[in-house]
Amino acid sequence: MEVKPVRQRLNLQSSGCHFAVGMDPLLSREEKYGHPTERAWIEIDRDALIHNARTLRSLLPPGCELMPAVKAQAYGHGAVLVARELNRIGVRAFCVATVSEGIELRKGGVKGEILILGYTHPSRISSLRRYRLIQTVIDYPYASVLNDCKKKIRVHIGIDTGMHRLGERCDHFEQICSIFRMKHLKIEGAFTHLCADDSTEPMEKSFTQGQGTAFFETMKQLKDQGFSCKKVHLQASYGVLNYPELGGDYARIGIALYGLLSTGADTERCNIVLKPVLAVKTRVAAVKGLYCGETAGYGLSFTAKREMKIATVTIGYADGLPRALSGGTGKVLIHGFEAPILGYICMDQTIIDVTDIPDVTQGDIAVVIGKSGGKEITACDVAQQADTIANEVLSRLGQRLTRMVVS
Ligand SMILES: *Cc1c(COP(=O)(O)O)cnc(C)c1O
Repeated sequence: MEVKPVRQRLNLQSSGCHFAVGMDPLLSREEKYGHPTERAWIEIDRDALIHNARTLRSLLPPGCELMPAVKAQAYGHGAVLVARELNRIGVRAFCVATVSEGIELRKGGVKGEILILGYTHPSRISSLRRYRLIQTVIDYPYASVLNDCKKKIRVHIGIDTGMHRLGERCDHFEQICSIFRMKHLKIEGAFTHLCADDSTEPMEKSFTQGQGTAFFETMKQLKDQGFSCKKVHLQASYGVLNYPELGGDYARIGIALYGLLSTGADTERCNIVLKPVLAVKTRVAAVKGLYCGETAGYGLSFTAKREMKIATVTIGYADGLPRALSGGTGKVLIHGFEAPILGYICMDQTIIDVTDIPDVTQGDIAVVIGKSGGKEITACDVAQQADTIANEVLSRLGQRLTRMVVS
């Protein structure tokens, strides 16, 4: 087999890649503007992100703004990178899960409101203030703890209308009123979270509508008591698609912004065009022959039933490739061909079958999520193979993968 120098092959699939972040400025033009020299990386399609944001924004009722969920590194896409792109098209509010995620956005220069959806230890109040973050009030006891710190804190009150995760129960109206009376809390909003809005079946529909009614009824009663807050919100991706009439001032959209829904079936069924934002690519580290009867990988888990050509690609479960894809369950794409995964996926590497793929060479690019030739593997495909949802696959993509913007 002829081995071409890696350098020559770098531009093989590099159409339209002209901006990369976090790269060594001394790299050659080819390396800088073509594919990276990393072992495995994530390419972010800026045009797709902007398309999704604009499409979703057009679905929102008047007065309702996007508050993209950029928690967990923007579902693996890179939080600062995504939020800054969205800043540029006028998105002015974001939500994250943790105070550290909020700080990272600020340090990355992200502008606008940043709401922390989850628990923050009271000892970190100074960070909330320093980085102009908005904290969710988880319930009445948490509100008291925050208030006892005697420092002005911006908050949105979480209201539990049926998910029973975070939020003060909506039937604890007196406690909610007491939160409004707390001197040190600057209450700028209130929100609830819908937990069955991915379905429009009768039971889920009446449950979701019940959540909406309970939330807006609570807001109305608060107003009657003289308590008001600027922003109320309850929608996430599925809510905007399935129950647009529920409205609100913000739509906390996560998964749809990244160009897909939790499952392939949902993505196909939804009546808007979403474009996947992310591709995961890796390199072929080695190509070798295998004689009939030989095994490959840990635990002798794969045995060749014929003479084969196999390759090792430089991505593993530590990078977020689910180990559940082992043993032929998953595949990657090389030169537009499917290469099944052989044996157990390792922490940093994966062995694939390239017997029927011509000219696979050390340094070639393999696509784990994304397109190659006429074929595509989506995060939903991977999720289905791993018996989970795309949200989990994306959000677990590892820190070792360099994120870069293309297009
Ligand atoms: C993660 C999250 C969202 C975003 O949900 P998607 O289904 O990804 O759109 C919205 N609100 C809350 C409270 C969340 O935790």
